[in-house]
Amino acid sequence: MQHSSIKAVLTNTPPLTEVTVNGWVRSFRSNRFIALNDGSTLNNIQCVVDFENFEEALLKQVTVGSALRITGTLIESQGRGQKFEVQVTDIFVHGSADPDTYPIQPKKHSMEFLRENAHLRIRTNTFSAIMRVRSALSFAVHQYFRENGFNYVHTPIITGSDAEGAGEMFRVSTLDAIAPPKTETGDIDYKQDFFGKETNLTVSGQLEAETYAMALGKVYTFGPTFRAENSNTSRHLAEFWMIEPEMAFYNLDDNMDLAEDFIKSVIGYILEHCQEDLEFLDKRLLDEEKNKPQAERSPMALIEKLKFVSENNFKRVSYTEAIDILRNSKPNKKKKFQFPIDEWGADLQSEHERYLVEKHFKCPVILFDYPANIKAFYMRLNEDGKTVRAMDILFPGIGEIVGGSQREERLDVLKEKIKALDIDEKELWWYLDLRKFGTAVHSGFGLGFERLVLFATGMGNIRDVIPFPRTPQNAEF
Ligand code: ATP
Ligand code: MG
Ligand code: MG
Ligand code: MG
Repeated sequence: MQHSSIKAVLTNTPPLTEVTVNGWVRSFRSNRFIALNDGSTLNNIQCVVDFENFEEALLKQVTVGSALRITGTLIESQGRGQKFEVQVTDIFVHGSADPDTYPIQPKKHSMEFLRENAHLRIRTNTFSAIMRVRSALSFAVHQYFRENGFNYVHTPIITGSDAEGAGEMFRVSTLDAIAPPKTETGDIDYKQDFFGKETNLTVSGQLEAETYAMALGKVYTFGPTFRAENSNTSRHLAEFWMIEPEMAFYNLDDNMDLAEDFIKSVIGYILEHCQEDLEFLDKRLLDEEKNKPQAERSPMALIEKLKFVSENNFKRVSYTEAIDILRNSKPNKKKKFQFPIDEWGADLQSEHERYLVEKHFKCPVILFDYPANIKAFYMRLNEDGKTVRAMDILFPGIGEIVGGSQREERLDVLKEKIKALDIDEKELWWYLDLRKFGTAVHSGFGLGFERLVLFATGMGNIRDVIPFPRTPQNAEF
C-alpha cells in the first residue's frame, strides 16, 4: 500500500510530489479545504478539493470525523499557517461520520464532556498531544532502566498480599463462607470466588519485586496498580500505572540518587523528543493561566518548568528539618498553618508538602527519615529507633510523586514489626525467607506514572492523562 503518515509528508517535503495519506477529517471548510489528521502529528494536512471534479454524493460523505484516504499532489501553499498542501486528485471514504451526532466538533469542549467521550476525546489536539507524551515517557522509562542494567519483571496483578497494609484493596474473591457463590449445578463458582482463595488486585508490586531484586540485583516493575480509594481528588485513580524499581545493595542515599536521576532523565527525553506536543501544551496552559487570579498562576511556563527540573538538583530535607521549617513559617504572611505541625510524628498534609515545594524551596523536594509510625512495616528502622529510612519526592503543582524506602533487611526487627501490627507471620513466610536466606541491604521506590504525566503535560486532573480513567464515576468502558 502506498501511503505516508502526515508527519512524514509534512516534514520530508519535496521530492515528494504525489502523496497518499489516510486520516480523520478535523474540519471541512467552504466545501474546499479538508483538514486531515492521522495522529502522527498535531498538524493537520490541508487538502484542497476542486469540487467541480468530484461527485456531490461523494463530497456529502466528507464530514467532520469521517475517515478518508486522499491522493493528490503536494504543492506549496499560498495560505497562511502551512507550508504545503495537497491538491486532491482522489478521495476514498473509509467511513463517514454523521455530522449531527458526531460529538467531537471543531470547537472547545469542556473536560467533563470529553471524559464522558473517552473513546473519541483522543481525536482532539489536547488529548492526542497528552497521549503521545505519555507514550514517549513510557518508552523513556524502559529505556532508562535497560541502559542502567535493570531487568523488567512482571509482578502479579492478582495477589494475596497487601503490600501497604492500608486496606485499599479491591477484592477478587467474595469469600462468603456462609453463602459462597454457586453455579447452576451447585458447585462453588470459582469465577466469582477465585478458587476459594482470598485474593485482591495488587496495590503495589514491591514485595514481589523485592524477591527478584534479591536474585537479579536490579529490577523494576511497571504495570497497572489498583487502589480502592473512593476519593474524588485530582491526584487519585482507582487504577493507575506504577513504576517500581527495586535494587539489592542500595541504601537510602543510593535510592534517592537513582530516583532523582531517573526523573531528570525521562523528562529530558521528552524535552528532546516531544517538542511539538510540549509547545502546544505549553501554550494551552498559558491560555488557562490567564483566566486565573495572579496569585494562583504558575510562576513558570511548562517547558521552562520541565527544563528546570531536569537540570537542577532536588532539595533533600529530613522530616525533622521539614517540621521545623513548617513550625516557623507563615504561609499567609499573617497567620501560621491551620493544621499547625506542633507535634513531631504527625503526617504531613498536602498543604504542608506544597508549601515546602512551592513557597519555601521552590524546587522538587526529597523528604527522608520519616517517623516509623506513619510509614509501612517494611521500611528500615534507623538506629534512633523512631524513624525509618523512607523518602517521598514532592513536586510543584503535584505533591507526592514518589514514595520509597530502604527495606528492613534484619529478620528479627522485621518479625517484631509484623507482630506489633498483628499481621500473621505465616502470610509473609516467603517475604521473611528473603531475610533468612542471604539477606542484604536493599531499596526501591514507587512512582505513580500518571502523576509524572500530569507534571510533564501541565494538565490539572489525573483523569485526563490516562486513556480510560477508573474512578467512582467512570468504569463503563
Ligand atoms: P498519596 O499520599 O498521594 O495517596 P500514597 O502515599 O498513598 O500516595 P504510595 O503508596 O506511596 O502512595 O505509592 C507510590 C506512588 O504511587 C505515589 O507516590 C503516587 O505517585 C502513586 N499513587 C498512589 N496512589 C495513587 C492513586 N490512587 N492514583 C494515582 N497514583 C497513585
Ligand atoms: Mg494514598
Ligand atoms: Mg502519601
Ligand atoms: Mg507514599
